[in-house]
Amino acid sequence: MKVNGTPVAVGSTVLAACRAAGADVPAFCTDDRLSKGGHCRACLVEVNGRLVASCTTPARDDLEIETDTPRLRAYRRDLGELMLAESTAGTLAPTLRAWGCDGTRYPAPAGPPARRDTSHPYLSLDLAACIKCRLCVKGCEELQGQFVYAFAQRGAATTLTWGPGAFDTTACVACGACASLCPTGAITDRDRLRSAPTTRVVQSTCSYCGVGCSLDVHVADDRVQKIEGTTASPVNHGHLCVKGRYAHGFSRHPDRLTTPLIRRNGVLEPATWDEAITLIATTFARLRGHVAALSSSRCTNEENYLVQKWMRVALGTHNVDCCARVCHGPSAAGMRAVLGTGAATNSLADIEHADLLLVAGSNSTAAHPITGARIKQAVLRGARLVVIDPRRTELAELADVHLQLRIGTNVVLLNALARAMIDDGAIDRAFVDARTEGYAAYVEFLRDYSPEATEEITGVPAALVRRAAHLYGTAQRPMQTHGLGMTEHYQGSEGVMLLCNLALLAGALGREGVGVNPLRGQNNVQGAADMGCQPDLVTGYGDPTDPAVRARFERVWGTPLPEAPGLTIPAMYDAARAGEIKAMFILGEDVVQTDPAIHTDSALAALELLVVQELFLSETAKRAHVVLPGASFLEKDGTFTNGERRIQRVRQAITPPGQARPDWRVLCDLMAAMGAPQPFEHPSEIMDEIAQVAPSFAGVSYARLDPFGLQWPVPSADHPGTSILHATSFPVGRATFARVAYAPSPVLAHGEGFPLRLTTGRVLEHYNCGTMTRRSDNVVLHPSDELELHRDDATAAGLGDGDPVRVISPFGEAHATARVSDRMTPGQAFLSFHFPATGTNNLTSGVLDRLADCPEYKMTPVRIEPDRSPSRR
Ligand code: SF4
Repeated sequence: MKVNGTPVAVGSTVLAACRAAGADVPAFCTDDRLSKGGHCRACLVEVNGRLVASCTTPARDDLEIETDTPRLRAYRRDLGELMLAESTAGTLAPTLRAWGCDGTRYPAPAGPPARRDTSHPYLSLDLAACIKCRLCVKGCEELQGQFVYAFAQRGAATTLTWGPGAFDTTACVACGACASLCPTGAITDRDRLRSAPTTRVVQSTCSYCGVGCSLDVHVADDRVQKIEGTTASPVNHGHLCVKGRYAHGFSRHPDRLTTPLIRRNGVLEPATWDEAITLIATTFARLRGHVAALSSSRCTNEENYLVQKWMRVALGTHNVDCCARVCHGPSAAGMRAVLGTGAATNSLADIEHADLLLVAGSNSTAAHPITGARIKQAVLRGARLVVIDPRRTELAELADVHLQLRIGTNVVLLNALARAMIDDGAIDRAFVDARTEGYAAYVEFLRDYSPEATEEITGVPAALVRRAAHLYGTAQRPMQTHGLGMTEHYQGSEGVMLLCNLALLAGALGREGVGVNPLRGQNNVQGAADMGCQPDLVTGYGDPTDPAVRARFERVWGTPLPEAPGLTIPAMYDAARAGEIKAMFILGEDVVQTDPAIHTDSALAALELLVVQELFLSETAKRAHVVLPGASFLEKDGTFTNGERRIQRVRQAITPPGQARPDWRVLCDLMAAMGAPQPFEHPSEIMDEIAQVAPSFAGVSYARLDPFGLQWPVPSADHPGTSILHATSFPVGRATFARVAYAPSPVLAHGEGFPLRLTTGRVLEHYNCGTMTRRSDNVVLHPSDELELHRDDATAAGLGDGDPVRVISPFGEAHATARVSDRMTPGQAFLSFHFPATGTNNLTSGVLDRLADCPEYKMTPVRIEPDRSPSRR
């Protein structure tokens, strides 16, 4: 094949071949991630003397291609004039002028004026600039799966539409794919319109959820101008959700903390860094033996590493924990118990290889939106889908089988699924024989868990259980993902063990398109745990009682590891109440809002010194004695590790406000003030030390993390990283089937007078305590927490849709807006926890997962009544 006379190796299309040859062929309606359409006709070239659309024409060896001939120039000028007759062409107008189109000889089509819409906080639509290239339609359908756009009318009257109403009433989830793809600016990000032109683009990693999307941060005047997805990223392929793309307004919000604060006479007052560091260092030294630290899954690996090192080296204690304790700690514990490793076995890319997806306890399209979108696309391409969830989530609506169980009955349902797989013969007996232990005893144990016998407890019809078991057990590549609906229960860890059992039965481990994959919640919750911010495990999951581990750390740290075991978060709170813990350091976590109030309130009040390092004066920071202003992910360097174990770079794009400092620098200052100076001048040097102490990070260095990171284990400097765990064996040798009997949660003993079972979770627009998303225009999209409940329960309580509702549990009360929804079954309700005024976690009991100390956020008995308090009416 030749392009303009130059021989070219065959590409997939003529357009690809032209571009490979460096030819400037315009193409307005193509994107490598989308199906080809040939709609805009701009990419026409001459192939063997004929005009063809290069984007849809397959390349062949025998083609002679010309991209710039008098005929093509005349054609493009004519095309440009036709576009200008129907459209202003927006940002494409300069290109059309370059084709020689100073105006148009064609009349404008008759019809109403082009539609404009500015109802959405992030998207601005002006169809006067639309050239009908269809990229927005395809992006919405093929990247997100939302189907917001369509074309109406025919011929010259053809127009883009989103239905009759204002754009903000559509099903748009503000992923921004349309604005990102639109070549003319007919659909534009409003933040881009408000900002100066980009001066720099910095590649970084999203700091919201554990998907870990790769970002291109566009900067102008030391502010974020806009954020785009990095197209080549294997994690998100350029796609982003409403948080990652748009919720960056927090970075320059006037509420940002810009100076250290020290409480004097009961009031937090500005202080110098020296005053704050000295006060913390001297008090922690004085209270040695009675101190604890809570690290942050929002901060970098390097910062988490320093927190636990500070505690272990400078203060001689393992009293360090992180929020993995209160979310996916049960995933790690359950998977470690059965498989030997407590992390996702496979990669997000495996979603595209799976022929069945089992989504358990995860509202993925809201909580992990890019993973959710990938699952939707897989289903649209033909993969089967089984969803286990008490709510009829968006994915449940798409599912082949939705197992809508009664809240708190996961263990029963998962045992019934295993039993049904065995009854059906839908198991991989060769895998079971070769790689597992305890099958016969497991079969015997499951005798009492037939789908029929368990139907009354779970509320799930036996036939549906048997259908789901058949689909999972007979799929070639059945892949599991699970969320906090599995873990945050009294038997959370044990439920995860049962998910592992299902994978063992199906032989669905150690290969592409399968596995057990917890969807990690916070951006770096995987990393915080990897770094050793856990009382029982040091960096890289080393057991601090193992002499070999102790020797390794002592060699690098130059000091012995502490002997006494440390405390988990709930145990820290208990110890604070008992006067055993007197000083606590909390990095970037708003525990007052996110942990059960029954744990936090009295514990934090009992402390002699509470230090909080934060971006904003959070509910927790308001109670602190010292508050340190931290730097957001946009303002510092480091790494995050996403839910598929991928260690990715975070790069500074803008400067921190005021005196705010990167958290790793503050931690180095604290250690120096306590006589344990650290040699680090840049986070890359901290990573070099991590590589020395953690065998699974031994081959990790910043130089190796470009462009899209490495998946641990990376045992040596020439190792490519590990996308799939357990390919040939488990760290435990053979995996043993867990036999877990159902143990109803102790919280049910409080059920008298509280007829509803409440579960909690996130909505798409907000992230956890909402500290960052509430300080962005996401708050316009979702302004308050809502209690979702079935119409029967609303009617019985005298509530209508939109009414203020008081939610009362045996442990406290919360206030929200009632949302009558057919997503819930009678007797079950759902409440999010993003707004402090709601007080969702006032309701939560003190019950913990019985293996991993994770609070039982996902089941609380409640009653509801109209909220007649004056402030709510
Ligand atoms: Fe960020 Fe998660 Fe959204 Fe990706 S899916 S952009 S990581 S919040």
